[in-house]
Amino acid sequence: MSLTVKDKTTVRLVFFGAAGVGKTALIQRFLHDRFEHKYKRTVEELHSNQYDIDGVKIQIDIMDTSGSYSFPAMRKLSIRNGDAFALVYSIEDPESFEEVRRLRDEILEIKEEEKLVPIVVVGNKLDLENQRGVPAVDILPTVELDWNANFLEASAKSGENVVGVFKELLQQVNLPSRLSPALRRRRETIPKDNLGVRKRPPMKKTNSCTVS
Ligand code: GDP
Ligand code: MG
Repeated sequence: MSLTVKDKTTVRLVFFGAAGVGKTALIQRFLHDRFEHKYKRTVEELHSNQYDIDGVKIQIDIMDTSGSYSFPAMRKLSIRNGDAFALVYSIEDPESFEEVRRLRDEILEIKEEEKLVPIVVVGNKLDLENQRGVPAVDILPTVELDWNANFLEASAKSGENVVGVFKELLQQVNLPSRLSPALRRRRETIPKDNLGVRKRPPMKKTNSCTVS
């Protein structure tokens, strides 16, 4: 909750996932459109951005966390304070998806009072298609049908679908539509090539229920 200005909306997006899956890289690509090859370990970093749209202040906090279970107390706090969660794994590392499962369980445990916690599961490193170890067809039903969360694949390296990750997160927290001009502006600063929004991997999804 914002404390003073009554027409101020603050939204906090939290990135979780095993160390090395590309959380920091996704955030850096989105905020600064750059990519770092060298790996630097993150402890915890908060990026706050203010948007002023038609006189309404909107603050979007992006919380970049350390990988996985190294700081349990910090993680619990991040969960409590988070409005929407990006659970990131790497498409070449099946174990990193198992971490996503564990993280989701913990989020639901801590946010027990809320029925539907906004979660977007992100398979990062889509540029490493030839090293893929996690087939999208295996993940999609789990995430979208069992978990009722969103699923997409992206690459912080190429920039593919990175904006899609943030769009999805913001859509899930029902930000006022006023925000969309700011997002649109942001999108314009990302190279056109990266905008081929590939919301989900190409595969058929049926909405019908096959259970009798
Ligand atoms: P974090 O620990 O989850 O924050 O991971 P980082 O963002 O620090 O990235 C870990 C390593 O993976 C770094 O060496 C990045 O350059 C690399 N990396 C991150 N995203 C991608 C990606 O989309 N594709 C490829 N090929 N490498 C990536
Ligand atoms: Mg990091």
